[in-house]
Formats: sequence, structure tokens, C-alpha cells
Amino acid sequence: MAAMGAAGAAGSIAPKIPRLVRSLPPSSRPHPPPGFLKRLPFAGNCRHCSGDDRRGVGGAGVVPTAAATAAAAASMVYERELAVAKKAASLAARLCKSVQKSILHSDVQSKSDKSPVTVADYGSQAVVSFVLEKELSTSSFSLVAEEESGDLRKDGAQETLNRITELVNDTLSADGTYKVSLTADDILAAIDRGKSEGGPSGQHWVLDPIDGTKGFLRGDQYAIALALLDGGQVVLGVLGCPNLPLAALHDHKHSPQSPVGCLFSAKLGAGTHMELLDGSSPTKVQVSAVEDPADASFFESFEAAHSSHDLSSSIAKRLGVQAPPVRIDSQAKYGALARGDGAIYLRFPHKGYREKIWDHAAGSIVVTEAGGVVADAAGKPLDFSKGKYLDLDTGIVSTSQKLMPALLSAVQASLRETSESVGRL
Ligand code: AMP
Ligand code: MG
Repeated sequence: MAAMGAAGAAGSIAPKIPRLVRSLPPSSRPHPPPGFLKRLPFAGNCRHCSGDDRRGVGGAGVVPTAAATAAAAASMVYERELAVAKKAASLAARLCKSVQKSILHSDVQSKSDKSPVTVADYGSQAVVSFVLEKELSTSSFSLVAEEESGDLRKDGAQETLNRITELVNDTLSADGTYKVSLTADDILAAIDRGKSEGGPSGQHWVLDPIDGTKGFLRGDQYAIALALLDGGQVVLGVLGCPNLPLAALHDHKHSPQSPVGCLFSAKLGAGTHMELLDGSSPTKVQVSAVEDPADASFFESFEAAHSSHDLSSSIAKRLGVQAPPVRIDSQAKYGALARGDGAIYLRFPHKGYREKIWDHAAGSIVVTEAGGVVADAAGKPLDFSKGKYLDLDTGIVSTSQKLMPALLSAVQASLRETSESVGRL
């Protein structure tokens, strides 16, 4: 696939704020929210801000109209991209839901068969790739995605490819927006548009077509995770979580009839919203306001092979957390954290595992725009500009700004204790 050129499509969207700013009379020129410009690739372009303002410590003399105008300007950037991302993730979620339903209704023998998840994985990627390319008429398009079509092109894969093609066409025609009938070759091409490597310049879409495949097969949580990088930074993200209830997880336990299937969406400077995948008005969400870790609960992977449960148990004990861990699959954890179902996210893969950007890009902006912080175990922000992989120290943690210092101290202490006990062996 054509990787995006160095300047990439960033040029098509990034200058919108400065242009808008210039069109305003000087008295009402906006002052961006603290830290906002600094996080945008064109930060240096705003001639209306002093260095202090860019560091987010200014603000004196800002009139409310200016702040409101800045917020309005911020809300217009990436607006179209966000709407398209939501559409793509919702359609992919519809496809995945139909496959998961058929797995759960099938007999025991076919439940141990991994091929349904393969079909849904490729199908989801093809749907997202198709919608992004169809809706965003950029001359260059870059997608970094988990799947590639190599196996589907091998002898003996024709039947699987036909099933995927049928599934994608059924999903698109049920929606009715696109009057198309894709061929198997179209599907292969759509999947292979996800071969980009990402990087620090230009725009790159980042996709995990089914995050949490183990949860998908079990009938539990999984997510369709889609984000946009611009200049190496995540500027928007959506998480389609077909099995996550709209109500908080602990409330849903008591009223299991409440609706299920959430779509989280976040855009730099515009907050995080949640709505039903089947359609409802979006509501703004915020991370937990809990101030005492003893009152917090924490999320971790369901699969002990993906994250050390012993280490998180040690960290939780150190913090005085009383509640048992909430173990769920996929980036649905980030969604649940963003709306305050729990207050802490812990992820400590076993030695040698390298995190991929598609496992955290959408989730991280969903949490940070809801007021949270996402960092590695050393407290460093995640760096999505290095290609497909995240280079990080030991693990990933996330919580509210208030709880982060205490969490990082506990993480460091537990890591020290673990390495000392390994050293003694
Ligand atoms: P979770 O649902 O939180 O357990 O995370 C799911 C993600 O973990 C998958 O999308 C995989 O990319 C990733 N994964 C796969 N193998 C491992 C591993 N050995 N350690 C950590 N993460 C893994
Ligand atoms: Mg994944």
C-alpha cells in the first residue's frame, strides 16, 4: 500500500485552526486550551500565543469569548475524520457481532475452531479499510493494521476468502449507505491497505480489527479499535465494544436487561463521548473522581498470559485497594476506565513481549480526553511515533491525574521487590 508522503495529509487538516484564527478580529482571537497547541503538529504556527501560553501556564486576561471560540475551533478539527471513524467501527462491530453470535450458537466442536475469529478479523479490517478510503478522499491514505492477506492468498484459503467476502457484502448492504458488491480481490486489496508502517510524520490510521480475540471466542469482551495519528500523535480514537453495557459494569450486574454495545469516541481537545453502537445521543464521560486508592478498583487482562496478575495484585495491595480485580479482555478496559467504572488500569506483559500501537492508540486517547493519564511503568507518556511498536519501560498503567503519582510509586516499589526476589533466587 502507498505509505503517506513525509508531509502527508497532515497538511490538509492541520492548518485549519490558524486559518480560522486569522479570520477573526484581533480582539476575539482565540487562546487555545492549555496544552492543546503543544500537542498539535503545527504548534509552532500560532503567532497569537506566547511561549508560556503554549506551556499551558498562561491564561490571565483570556476573555471567555476567546476561550469559547478556541474550543469551537478545536471542535472543528478532525471532525469529519471522527465521524467516518465512528461509522467504520460501528459497521465492523456489526460484522463481528453476527460472527460471535454464530460461534456461540454452534456446537462444542466448532467452538474450539479458530476459523470464525479469523473470518471476523479479516472481515472487520476489510470493512474499516473500505469505509475510510471511500469516505476520505485523500490522495494518499495510510493504514497500520494488525492483519495482512498473505494466508488468504494461499492454496486452500478460497473458501475462507469467499466467506469473508460474503460477510463484508452482507454488512455493507444491510447498512444501505454503500451500493457496492465487492469481489474477493477487492477484499484482499482492502485488507492489504493496512500494510503501512506508521511513523512520526503525516497521518496514519491505526486499526485493531478485533482486539481481544480470546474474549471474542469466549463470548466475552472485545473491541474494534481505530485511531488516527498525525505527526506521531494520536489525535482521535474510537472504540467499538459490542459486549460492553451502556450502564457501569457494577450496575449492569444488577440490571442485566440494560442495553449493551458501546461506542467511545475521543478527539484531541474535545473530550470523550459514549453512545450505543446501535445509536443513541452521545454523552460526555469522565474518569473516576475517587481520591483514595482504597476506594478504587482496577482493570487488568482476563488472560494471565497477557499481563502479570501477581504483579498487579502486589501493586493493588500496596495502594490499599480493597476491591477484587476487574478482569476483562481488550481495550474495552480503557473504555470502562474512561467512564469511571474503575479507577486504575494495569498491564504488565511477560518479558520479551513488544506492545503494538494498535493495542493502545484508540484506548489511550479515550482515557486522556476523559481526564485520565496513560503512561509506561516509568511514568513516561506512550510514544506512537516509532512505527508499529511502542518502546516502553516494563508495562502500561493508567488512572486519573490525581491518583497517578501514588500509582507510579506503588508500581516502582512492586517492580523493585519483584526484581530483588528474582535476584535472590
Ligand atoms: P488483553 O485483552 O488485555 O489481554 O489484550 C489483548 C491483546 O494482547 C491482543 O490484542 C494481543 O495483541 C495482545 N497479546 C497477545 N499476546 C500477548 C502476550 N503474550 N502478552 C501481552 N499481550 C499479548
Ligand atoms: Mg489487539
